[in-house]
Amino acid sequence: MLNLYSWQHDDFNKLNQLKHRLPTAILLAGTNAIGTHNLALNFIAAILCNKPLDNGNYCGICSSCILINQAIHPDLFYLNSDNDETIKNKSINVVKVRESINFVSTTPNSSALKIVFVENANLLTSSSANALLKILEEPPHYVVFILLSDNIKTILPTIRSRCHTFRVSKPNCEESLQYLTKNNIHNNNFWLGYYQNCPIFDAIITDEQLDLIISTLSMPSIDNIFNLTQTFDGKTISFSFVLEFIYKWMCDLALISSMASPQYFSQYIDKMNPLIAKLNQEKLFYVADQLNFLIKWQNHPLNYRLQIENILFQYQNIFSTKPYT
Ligand SMILES: [Zn+2]
Repeated sequence: MLNLYSWQHDDFNKLNQLKHRLPTAILLAGTNAIGTHNLALNFIAAILCNKPLDNGNYCGICSSCILINQAIHPDLFYLNSDNDETIKNKSINVVKVRESINFVSTTPNSSALKIVFVENANLLTSSSANALLKILEEPPHYVVFILLSDNIKTILPTIRSRCHTFRVSKPNCEESLQYLTKNNIHNNNFWLGYYQNCPIFDAIITDEQLDLIISTLSMPSIDNIFNLTQTFDGKTISFSFVLEFIYKWMCDLALISSMASPQYFSQYIDKMNPLIAKLNQEKLFYVADQLNFLIKWQNHPLNYRLQIENILFQYQNIFSTKPYT
């Protein structure tokens, strides 16, 4: 369990206030990019701690705190998707929901409460959401559900209405900068612009990887494209990150070609300017549409590398005078 980030202390105190009359289900609305998962785990530790401090925080040394740190607490159930890396179309299986219902059917082992932690509520399918709803409607008195979601609009309204929604705070510019500096991320100004002041914990790439993707997009040769897809193989850097990166780059190309200022890549305007002369705007919008489609279906179990290659070859074609084939 990580300590709280600097922008999370207020949220944590507000959540601790809820402990006086704990709702049955709490929905934390915020992306993992701003550390929502970390905030949730700290809160769970504070709920389950056997000797909480006066300010409501967990003690860090009782048996409950130690078991949470080792992710083996008997009163905490992680309701998540399959861990199998080969499954790209991730969702929370209804079987797993039934396991969680079984888990709450008995009283707590070592704490006063039992917690079901839904680490990504957006992965609930309609059948798993309906199964979960049954227990949310009539939960045992000793159970608390903690749900995380980066897009609460996609969560079944019947589930949402059973939850106390808590909107997680984002870091401000200064806090983001401190985070980036502390984690040795050097292109601070670039990332602050790219994420609009919000550090993305899962996705920020190394300086070398950033150079590689920028040089491929500025010079989309066959060699560069193959080199990139070998490095960005989907294991360490997510598919959605790469797609979004290319999409934002293309948005900026469109802006510059319409005489507007770039939104994300102003630092790289020198690399974009030479592309503008060769740019076919009609093709650009066509490829941007394709990208948009892929971003929507990013969990589709198609070959990751082939898809990135395909989109980069289409991107390469934007700068060709040949008609579309
Ligand atoms: Zn403790």
